[in-house]
Amino acid sequence: MKQFNEEIAWLRRQGYHSISIEDLYQALVNKASVPEKPILLTFDDGYGDNYRSAWPIMQHNNFRATFFIITNSVGHGMMNWEQLNDLIKQGNFIGSHTVHHLDLASLTENQQDSELNISKQELEQHLGISVQALCFPSGKYNKTTLKLMSKLGYRLGFTTKPGRVHLGDVLLTLKRERIYGGMPLVSFQRLFP
Ligand SMILES: [Zn+2]
Repeated sequence: MKQFNEEIAWLRRQGYHSISIEDLYQALVNKASVPEKPILLTFDDGYGDNYRSAWPIMQHNNFRATFFIITNSVGHGMMNWEQLNDLIKQGNFIGSHTVHHLDLASLTENQQDSELNISKQELEQHLGISVQALCFPSGKYNKTTLKLMSKLGYRLGFTTKPGRVHLGDVLLTLKRERIYGGMPLVSFQRLFP
């Protein structure tokens, strides 16, 4: 957590402001304004240390994040519903990372439909939120995935392709920068020119 602490403290000193999925959507679709130096922080899979270790550091530095949750794993060594509810109550955001974290591109349309639909419904029922974003397990998706996302009411999709988000990007296949454990601070800083 020393690395994460340094990274978050550095982002704060540089004047970055965290935004939500809704902020990003409104900025991309309606050109709504965002704070100076906007950043969308995302965490995949819903590990328990996101709540125990990462969240207190973000809270201390006035950042909020989006957590992509595998619904079948909730409470099984991962964050439980109570913790997820607490994160939301404190201003964080939740998206779907499917039900079972399978390679969506290898599934049939019916299987994909169930992964996308059931995870969204579970999150909405347990957390009382509207789920608007999907993060593809291991970054894998195909045309069927994108078609189903539109049908089921997902507005944003997050890949593992490295890069920034710009006006005009395809909303269902947005890029992200991956932060590795053990990444030297200078390498992290290089992502923010
Ligand atoms: Zn994942």
